[in-house]
Amino acid sequence: MDANLARRGVTAPTAVYDVGGERFETPSLEFAAAVAEAHATHRRPRCLCLVEGVEMYVARLGDGYIVKRMPNTGSLHAPDCPSYEPPPEVSGLGQVLGSAITEDPATGETTLKLDFAMSKIAGRSTMPTAGAESDSVASSGTKLSLRGLLHYLWDQAELTRWQPGFAGKRSWSTVRRHLLQAAENKITRGDSLRSRLYVPEVFSVEQRDAINARRLAQWSQAIAAPGRPQHLMLLIAEVKEIAPARYGFKAVVRHMPDQAFAIDEPLYRRLGRRFESELALWGAAEDIHMVMISTFSVGASGIPTIIELSLMAVTRQWLPVDGAFEKQLVERLVADGRSFVKGLRYNLGAGSMLASATLTDCAGSAPLLFVASTGVEDYGRCLQLCDPSTPVWLWRPSREPMPPLPRPADRSKGNEGNAWATSAQAQHGSGATEAYPSV
Ligand SMILES: [Zn+2]
Repeated sequence: MDANLARRGVTAPTAVYDVGGERFETPSLEFAAAVAEAHATHRRPRCLCLVEGVEMYVARLGDGYIVKRMPNTGSLHAPDCPSYEPPPEVSGLGQVLGSAITEDPATGETTLKLDFAMSKIAGRSTMPTAGAESDSVASSGTKLSLRGLLHYLWDQAELTRWQPGFAGKRSWSTVRRHLLQAAENKITRGDSLRSRLYVPEVFSVEQRDAINARRLAQWSQAIAAPGRPQHLMLLIAEVKEIAPARYGFKAVVRHMPDQAFAIDEPLYRRLGRRFESELALWGAAEDIHMVMISTFSVGASGIPTIIELSLMAVTRQWLPVDGAFEKQLVERLVADGRSFVKGLRYNLGAGSMLASATLTDCAGSAPLLFVASTGVEDYGRCLQLCDPSTPVWLWRPSREPMPPLPRPADRSKGNEGNAWATSAQAQHGSGATEAYPSV
C-alpha cells in the first residue's frame, strides 16, 4: 500500500530506497526531502527490495511527488515488494503495454488508446457498432477494449492483489477509492480519464441529497447540447439487476437506488450471448458480484443511457474470476491465507493462455499458476510464455482434482527447490506430470 507523506506530499510504495547513494526508509521526512531533490536533479531512486536495487522514477503529483516503478519493470522487483508485478507477457497486459498503454516517466502521465467511443454527435442514432461484442473477437493490442480498460484500472488499483491482511477490509468504498486513484494521471484523447469516470458513492439515506448533487455535478459535463459532440461518461459499478423496464430495458446498480440506466433492446439482446459465461457464473454462485463498465450518455432530462458495456465477475474479495475453475482456485488461495496477484485477460480472447495467478509469498521467483481451459490444455504453451527459471503450476480441471499448490516461503523450510520444477526442467525433463509434487 502507498504511504502518503502528508506534509511533503510524497506518495511511494512502502520500501527501502537508495536516493543519491543514501539509504531511506518510507515513510519519513528525510525520504520526502530526498525525493524532491531527486526530482529537481533528475536522479532516479532505487528500490532496495533486491541487493542490486531496481530503478524507480519521480514525477509530480498535484503539489507533491510520486515515486513509481519504471514502465515494464514490475517483474524485476522481489515478489514480496509492493512494486512487484507479474511479467506482463503472462497476462493480457503484455499485448497492450507500450501500444494501447504508454507511460511517460517524465510526467508520470499514462496515455490510453481506447477502442470505443467517448463521444457521439447529438441527434445521431446511438446504435453501437463494435459495442460489447468487440471483446470476444480477436483484438489487436493497439487499443483497449472496454474490458481491457476495466482490467487495466483493476490492476492499477491493486484490486488484483491479495494478502491475508486484506481479509474483511475490502469494501465497495475501498474499491471505489482505489479505482478513482488509479484513474488519476490517465489521459485519453487529450482528456482526463478521472473526470469522465463515475463510480457510485456508498449510499446512505441521510446523505442522499448530497450524493445526488455530487453525481449531477459530475454528469453535467455530459448533458447533450445541440450542435456539438456529446461527451460520454464511463461507469464502473456493481450490477444489481439488468431487466425489462416499463419501456425498454434497464441496468440497476448498487448504491444508486433512485436512478437506473436505460439500455436499448439490441444491446440487451446481445448481452445474453456475449456474456453467457459471466452471467451463468453470477446466476449459479451467491457470492459472486458482477462488475459492469460502460459508456453512457446523459439525456437533457438527466436520464443516463448505456451505449456499450462489459461485465466482469468477481469474488466476495472483489478478485476477478473467469469461470468456475478460476473461482475455485482463487477461493482456495484466499482460504489458505496466500498472497498473490490475479491475472487478467485485458483484450485477449478465451483461447489465449494466461497465468490465472502469480504467488508472491514463495521463496525465489514467483510461481505462475495456470488453469487449463477446455480445449487449451497445451502445457508447452504456458511454459513458452515465461522465463525458463520461473516455477509453473498447471491444473487441468477436466482431468484431475486441483494439484497441491507451491508452498509459501515460511512453511517450506528444507525442501524448497525440490518440490517445484522450473519450466526449463519440465521442458527438458521426462514429462509434465512428473514436474509436480506427488503429495
Ligand atoms: Zn522493489
